[in-house]
Amino acid sequence: MRLAKRVLGMSPSPTMAITSKAKEMRAKGIDVIGFGAGEPDFDTPEHVKEAAIEAIKSGFTKYTAPAGILELREAVAEKLKRENGIEYSPQEVVITDGAKLALFNLMLSVIEEGDEVIIPAPYWVTYPEQVKFAGGKPVFVETKEENGFSLRLEDIEPVVNDRTKLLILCTPNNPTGAVIDRNELKRIGEFCAKRGILIASDECYEKLTYDGFEHTSIASISEEIKSVTITINALSKAFSMTGWRVGYAAGPREIIDAMIKINSQSISNVNSVTQKAAIAALTSPTDFLKDWLKAFDERRRYMVERLNEIPGVKCLMPKGAFYAFPNVKELIEKGGLKDDFALADYLLEKAKIAVVPGSAFGMPGYLRLSYATSMNNIIEGLNRFKRAAEELL
Ligand code: PLP
Repeated sequence: MRLAKRVLGMSPSPTMAITSKAKEMRAKGIDVIGFGAGEPDFDTPEHVKEAAIEAIKSGFTKYTAPAGILELREAVAEKLKRENGIEYSPQEVVITDGAKLALFNLMLSVIEEGDEVIIPAPYWVTYPEQVKFAGGKPVFVETKEENGFSLRLEDIEPVVNDRTKLLILCTPNNPTGAVIDRNELKRIGEFCAKRGILIASDECYEKLTYDGFEHTSIASISEEIKSVTITINALSKAFSMTGWRVGYAAGPREIIDAMIKINSQSISNVNSVTQKAAIAALTSPTDFLKDWLKAFDERRRYMVERLNEIPGVKCLMPKGAFYAFPNVKELIEKGGLKDDFALADYLLEKAKIAVVPGSAFGMPGYLRLSYATSMNNIIEGLNRFKRAAEELL
């Protein structure tokens, strides 16, 4: 059997692979501490679960419109106005299976064979795979550690040409936790609007920022910027609803209509019960977030402090999301290891901790550790990391 080229060229998600490997080891009775998680360790809020139970009991279990039910599209439009300061009509919103499908439908809707898509590195692993799947060419630009991994207009300017179709922005960022401030977003947005470059603004981690940083949605800055931007978000991280599979995109009607058409010929619609739960989530108070943020913030500080005590490791303080992205170049070099993959393997075998190598995100010489895990795991995991590093040097 010969599989299609488009799927042969696709790499499986390395973050999911490391999580599965750690799970397998755990199933064999090995005590592995996982720092691979890309999801909050908190439970979905009770009122959201109740809304789903109610939907099942009332028989809301049939096909819905491919765009999502109107009540949910309205709830998203209201949320974007209230919290992000962007005016979208419900018709400019499509409900998708998480942010992942929103991005996928977007790529399939706008990318033609050979179009270039700018992806700032380090990047979320899925972006380049989706771009290639859609026939596009990923063009990577490196963000710099000395700029806190925060993208600058100057990073993208040199690679823009007539084939540049789309820029993918992710703030707060996975894997670095970096954020882009309003000023820089304005510069980047105005540049893209002037050049007719579309912007996919992945705002999945918007609720998870620290030290008083306030997230800005790039589409809220001006009408010109809004006209080239597709705002993408999900309930996955902000409501701890990763398994429910619900997200959305909002943007120019023509693009949203194309994305809806793809829904109609692929998934049909997001699970009807999930959609009802999403309405409850988006229209109820989000006080629980304060406690989640407090816990994430404590873990963030602790993790970064401890990482910086490990010989050969240097880690910036991330301003958002729930990941630390330490520079481990010195540890790799002095420890005589080949690269960050080898270090991640060493840490899994020796210290029984699962971390993701930076190479998976297009940035060798780093590791990603998620702090969406208990403080006890973080304490013990970092003790193990330190011991294993000391043995290596
Ligand atoms: N975008 C980023 C930057 C992510 O980190 C993730 C999940 O890890 C997603 C999108 C996908 O989110 P969802 O589970 O809503 O599809």
